[in-house]
Amino acid sequence: MSDSDALKSLLPPLAQARLQSLRLADGVATVILDAAGFDGIERDGLEAAVKEVLAAAPGVSEVRVAMMADKPRRRIVAVGSGKGGVGKSTVSANLAVALARLGRKVGLVDADIYGPSQPRLLGTEGKRPEAREKQLIPVPSAFGVGVLSMGNLIEPGKAIAWRGPMAGSALGQLVDADWGAAEILVVDLPPGTGDVQLTMLQKHKPAGAVIVSTPQDLALIDATRAMQLFDVGQVPVIGLVENMAGYVCPHCGEVSDPFGRGGAEAEAARLGHAFLGRIPLDLAIRQASDAGIPPAAGDGPQAEAFLALARRVATWLDNS
Ligand code: ADP
Repeated sequence: MSDSDALKSLLPPLAQARLQSLRLADGVATVILDAAGFDGIERDGLEAAVKEVLAAAPGVSEVRVAMMADKPRRRIVAVGSGKGGVGKSTVSANLAVALARLGRKVGLVDADIYGPSQPRLLGTEGKRPEAREKQLIPVPSAFGVGVLSMGNLIEPGKAIAWRGPMAGSALGQLVDADWGAAEILVVDLPPGTGDVQLTMLQKHKPAGAVIVSTPQDLALIDATRAMQLFDVGQVPVIGLVENMAGYVCPHCGEVSDPFGRGGAEAEAARLGHAFLGRIPLDLAIRQASDAGIPPAAGDGPQAEAFLALARRVATWLDNS
């Protein structure tokens, strides 16, 4: 058995399975491992285990470990709206959770500087992300989706003062964090068409955008503007979601349409964009959201509405 074969046999099974090469020269053991799909903690664990066994082996004075990781093909789905209060954050959180339920590896970026609410929606409030080699590590949630929020980087109440370069560099820290194996990043943008949206378009090139609107004409005019921003930035609009679409009576379950019906679908068609579906105005959605339990993680019609949306988005991603 050669020296390097002897060293190989000392490695833990996972390191043996992932070994690309191991050389020993002048007492220096150089190990190259395939770390594709591992997150930072798994990489650190594997590196430490390899160093521990090899450093104790005869003839080894130094151990060098290199991890080769293919960057996963990670695609950004930007979620925008023309104005605030239409349920963009609610749709972002539940789209991310529903995509994870469909088996996708998903991360959620809360880029809404004006009202970062994802930690509350995913029940991670008060947990701060750690950093490793200057890279943020997303906070895991109970719903299979890691989350990073502008709210983690700014002091509460100071958000409004964030403009231009500061907002842009904060967005960069969130998007370029250690997302591990995540293949889809859902990004909850601030409402409107400001600095964060422009940085998103120019620097991070989303694969596509989902626009959220309520059914009222006024909200739709703003949503149209948001869609046009993505059109101009040459980011494909995946489609328009109509939120708070029909009111579900909490007593009898009857569905009525206080804000009208069909406007969003017609507007999407007029602009040549897809209509991704309706999410009803439902007290259960607000209550679950406030409690940090995304309705998409549960059962029943609320979850089904978000799963239907996620299926359309997943199919769009698969075909583009
Ligand atoms: P935005 O991100 O557009 O400002 P939010 O997602 O924060 O909007 O939603 C605003 C409020 O409306 C929140 O209290 C949220 O729980 C509630 N909400 C959003 N969508 C629905 C819905 N489909 N049914 C009931 N309440 C909703």
